[in-house]
Amino acid sequence: MTSQRRVGLMGGTFDPIHHGHLVAAEEARWQFHLDEVVFVPTGQPWQKPVGVSAAEDRHRMTAIATASNPAFGVSRIEIDHPGPTYTVDTLRRLRAGLGGHTRLYFITGADAVLHILTWKDGEEVLALAELIAATRPGFDLSKLAERIPGARERLHPMEIPMLAISSTQIRARVARGAPIRYLVPEGVVRYVAEHGLYRPEPAEPCRDRLSREAGS
Ligand code: ATP
Ligand code: MG
Repeated sequence: MTSQRRVGLMGGTFDPIHHGHLVAAEEARWQFHLDEVVFVPTGQPWQKPVGVSAAEDRHRMTAIATASNPAFGVSRIEIDHPGPTYTVDTLRRLRAGLGGHTRLYFITGADAVLHILTWKDGEEVLALAELIAATRPGFDLSKLAERIPGARERLHPMEIPMLAISSTQIRARVARGAPIRYLVPEGVVRYVAEHGLYRPEPAEPCRDRLSREAGS
């Protein structure tokens, strides 16, 4: 008998990846005996089409952050897909490539699971992969099972050590010059600094002046 491989997928914008994402992925690996957790940075997210960092930057930061964990990997499946990508399409394509011996788990935070299951494709998402819903400060999962009929066997709430960190907050901190050390891995702190990510745009008159000077 072939033993089933258990693969977790952690989807996200990862703009940037932070310790909340990593704790959720590692806890899922341990609690659900996953052989592997694959991080899937989004291509052009339709939920946040404006102001999202370049896919290559987000992919590189995710690779840097996950490099030290042998059970973690990063997929380009959404990044290399032109146009907006939907979780259900990604799961369909992954499912087709994996064959029957893989048990797929889609790992999300409590905020994201509420969205996924209220989309029109929520049922198909659940058919393609089981969902692991990590606790996240400010989001209550207790009523979820009642709201989604048939989800009982395929939706697994997961308690994790709560880290009140969000990428939005990290970007805002960088923009105002606040430290992000210990909120994201060291390599990500360096990447953000070296590539000047999340810094406020120079004000219009200054930009005009610079381009005038560059042109003269
Ligand atoms: P943003 O503030 O830009 O929305 P984010 O911090 O929510 O960023 P995402 O890339 O949107 O990060 O999230 C990817 C996945 O990780 C989602 O399923 C989200 O619920 C989950 N997640 C994000 N932060 C945490 C956290 N602190 N604890 C648990 N899960 C989290
Ligand atoms: Mg989010």
